[in-house]
Amino acid sequence: NMFDKGSYCLLSLNLSTVEILREWRNKRLNFVSEMIVQNAICVTFGNFVAASPLAHTLMPCSFSRVLQMLDGFPIRYHGDEWDNQTLQVFLVPHSHNDPGWLKTFDGYYRDQTRHILDNMLQQLTDDPQRKMIWAEVSYFSKWWDDIDEHKRSQVQKLLKAGQLELVTGGWVMADEANSHYYALIDQLLEGHQWIQRHLGVKPTNGWAIDPFGHSPSMSYLLKGAGLKNHVIQRVHYSVKKHFAQQRLLEFSWRQPWDSASSADDITCHMMPFYSYDVPHTCGPDPAVCCQFDFHRLPGGRVACPWRVAPQPITEDNVKERARLLLDQYRQKSRLFRSPVLLVPLGDDFRFVDAREWEDQFSNYQRLFQHMNQDPTLHVQARFGTLADYFEALQRHLDSTQVSRLPAVGGDFFTYADRDDHYWSGYYTSRPFYKRQDRHLETTLRYCSHLCHCKSGQAQGRLWLFSYLTTGRRNLGLFQHHDAVTGTAKDAVVRDYGERLRRSVLDLRQVIQSSAHFLLLPDKSRFDQSQPLLQTDKPCRFSRLVVVYNSLEQRRTTVVTVTVDTPYAAVTEVESGRPITAQISVVWEEPTRASKNTFQLSFIVDLPPLSLSLYHVTRSSSGSAPRSEYHISAPDVRAEGFSVSPVQTQEDLKISNEHLEVYGHALSGLMQKLRLHSGQVRQVQVQFLWYGTRSDHRDKSGAYLFLPGDEGEQVSVTAPLVRVSVGPVFSDITSCFPHVTHRVRLFHIKGHEGRSLQIQNTVDIRSEFNRELVMRLVTDVANGNHFSTDINGFQMLQRRTLSKIPLQANFYPMTTAAFIQDQDRPGTRLTLLSAQSQAVAALKPGFLELVLDRRLQQDDNRGLGQGVTDNKRTESLYHLLLEVQTRNPPVTLSKPDHNTSLTLIKRTESLYHLLLEVQTRNPPVTLSKPDHNTSLTLIKRTEKSLYHLLLEVQTRNPPVTRSKPDHNTSLTLNKRTESLYHLLLEVRTRNPPVTRSKPDHNT
Ligand SMILES: [Zn+2]
Repeated sequence: NMFDKGSYCLLSLNLSTVEILREWRNKRLNFVSEMIVQNAICVTFGNFVAASPLAHTLMPCSFSRVLQMLDGFPIRYHGDEWDNQTLQVFLVPHSHNDPGWLKTFDGYYRDQTRHILDNMLQQLTDDPQRKMIWAEVSYFSKWWDDIDEHKRSQVQKLLKAGQLELVTGGWVMADEANSHYYALIDQLLEGHQWIQRHLGVKPTNGWAIDPFGHSPSMSYLLKGAGLKNHVIQRVHYSVKKHFAQQRLLEFSWRQPWDSASSADDITCHMMPFYSYDVPHTCGPDPAVCCQFDFHRLPGGRVACPWRVAPQPITEDNVKERARLLLDQYRQKSRLFRSPVLLVPLGDDFRFVDAREWEDQFSNYQRLFQHMNQDPTLHVQARFGTLADYFEALQRHLDSTQVSRLPAVGGDFFTYADRDDHYWSGYYTSRPFYKRQDRHLETTLRYCSHLCHCKSGQAQGRLWLFSYLTTGRRNLGLFQHHDAVTGTAKDAVVRDYGERLRRSVLDLRQVIQSSAHFLLLPDKSRFDQSQPLLQTDKPCRFSRLVVVYNSLEQRRTTVVTVTVDTPYAAVTEVESGRPITAQISVVWEEPTRASKNTFQLSFIVDLPPLSLSLYHVTRSSSGSAPRSEYHISAPDVRAEGFSVSPVQTQEDLKISNEHLEVYGHALSGLMQKLRLHSGQVRQVQVQFLWYGTRSDHRDKSGAYLFLPGDEGEQVSVTAPLVRVSVGPVFSDITSCFPHVTHRVRLFHIKGHEGRSLQIQNTVDIRSEFNRELVMRLVTDVANGNHFSTDINGFQMLQRRTLSKIPLQANFYPMTTAAFIQDQDRPGTRLTLLSAQSQAVAALKPGFLELVLDRRLQQDDNRGLGQGVTDNKRTESLYHLLLEVQTRNPPVTLSKPDHNTSLTLIKRTESLYHLLLEVQTRNPPVTLSKPDHNTSLTLIKRTEKSLYHLLLEVQTRNPPVTRSKPDHNTSLTLNKRTESLYHLLLEVRTRNPPVTRSKPDHNT
């Protein structure tokens, strides 16, 4: 019944028509629900009440009155405000093209985007008054590849004439909550360099109208990329109202570390109303503004849900129509400090056909002509770009006494668009892909280091760069605000996932080739035609393992490789020194040990940006010690390993020289920590289920988190518990039905020895409308304060507030969160995360993370489906408890710039795990280099989702491997002058790099 008969016929025509109709229907449903909300509840989400001389007779009276009673505030004007300064209106045509959402990137391009751009070229060329802005370079570059030289030169002309403006210049309009700054820079670089290379222009204005909340890290990066101004839209409706009342909607966005200076400020324009579509951009009344969306003229496919249709502009109605529209412009203008007004004109995938272009432009041209000719109206309205608007704004500011906008600091999370609909669900939705994103990021980082430093010898190996470019673009594409957010349709999510996976595999080939080259003492003997690739074949003994440390710090850590025997040992190649190692069981099931696969873990100490070599051998006499197991289930065997029952009378305990961890005797879950100083602190791990509301109101979906009540603790009588003890690490594993939880202590120095590694393997595929949460319950006296990072770039302090709903107290955590005692000296508990997730600190001492969500229904934001394509997903953390000491002073100050840097350095070690390269067959004979030498890349056999180890094998005969020396001691030289040129440069140096201090002293 959703469709009329005509539409139904269309439905049967083809699938793409179905998609268009469905999209259209979702949009209509949104409008209808919006209208109901406005009429019945009158939470106005930024729609302000009209009380103006021009409008009072035209506004539906009852609507206006209800609004005035309940929310919003009247926007009043006398009518003489513009007598001395003309109202300058810039109508900015735009078309919001998601690089994947309901359709894949390629699907949208085929059905809509290319037509939009084709028409843009035609329409703007035909009429020099017409203008348009475009944001997504991923689409623009694809279209560019499809057009001929003549059209390309037309594009150049339009840019030069200022009719077309490329805004932001990112590969996509990036999500700002889950995305890491590395990936944000990646997509910005990719877009800007494409524009520079093909069009020779540089974007100066940002346009972020659809990301679900806004981050100051993004504004900092944009400023660094040369942008001067930025437009944002999705901000909490109450915050918008406050900003509107204070006339702060245009401000200088300042970074927290810039107290007085404004070098990093960017001029920011916050759109005042509910949405970026036409009903919510001309002024405060959507029922009026919708009448000026001429794509909705009667007879078309889209209508106005406010029941008043647009009218074509004619000689007869132009006066009345112009005044009605001007009234909206004037009201909106009263929310700003200047008489320069920005009015976007567009929506999702607008301007597809020539008819729509004609309807919008010719009707507005008649309206503008009428307005501009009447001097009593004091208005100049025209089509414009963002550049036109911001230049006019700047001219106005320069002409007034107050030439600077007010400064504002902070971020705009968590976003709510109406009621208690907080968008904190997407901080976790599709966690598998959020983890995969970080995996590609890391692989790309290795590649850019290893490949770049030998670029001089890159002739004939252009494929390396093509893989690198595709990898960067796939990572860039995934930063789109419906990709890394987990808010696209199932098929689109799979498309993104396949791109990420493909690029990781391709980049491994780049790494393999580059590492091969770097390790050859005689580079002239490198023959790239020889490499023969093998995938997924298990390694045999003996072999050489090459480990790459991609961090700029020295690093002590543990490397684990899969071996086929429990008799193995490791030596350092350079010194021949044996390395501390441990052999452990691979558990195929909680109670079943693999008979032919084992893990060999060994401790490595790596200089910054170095390749180090280790020799792994089969060794029955000098074999590395084996893990000892204590298991709660009876009759579990692991051949060759000591297995005994867990002692259930007292707490379980594992320890290293820094820490003792006590686990619950039955559940194995951590209860407390004893520090080196003897101090005992409570740190309990709990798992909880959140549901969704059971009444008739909206329920949780891909975007929204609407849990109703606080979560219930997962009740499990007695999970299988396994304690393993050894010289390299000790751990406690608890196997629950939906999560396998492991706490591991490494017996090493440095920050990785001082912190606990926590790993969760989550599988909630059997659940219905549930979300799984890990909560830490501690005795840290943080009050209601806690801190989260944003984009891995800076820390922001949060406060948990009881006056806002539960779901509003969840924030994005890109890489880290901490709680600390409010009194000094005190304690700080930091959780470093290898993936983005939602985090909250609902009570003093609590810190909790949403691990995965499975939701059966759509949450009415256009997606049209729930989230039920869950996968078995792993998450990884380091937990660090620091106690303030007096000498040397460790200040647990408010989170500031220094805190951020230290934390970020620590977090890097978590997700920039190590690159491991292996040779097959007789090791390290250091004979002459051989032409037949080839490196083979194999994937780890472990089914680890996020593991970043890469293995490269040689096929026969012995490879010469010098210890990577001067040629491989790399120095990373980041250009700091300009973020726009934030290409990583890697140099070789002689003598090698100075080593940095261990990072716990940093
Ligand atoms: Zn979008």
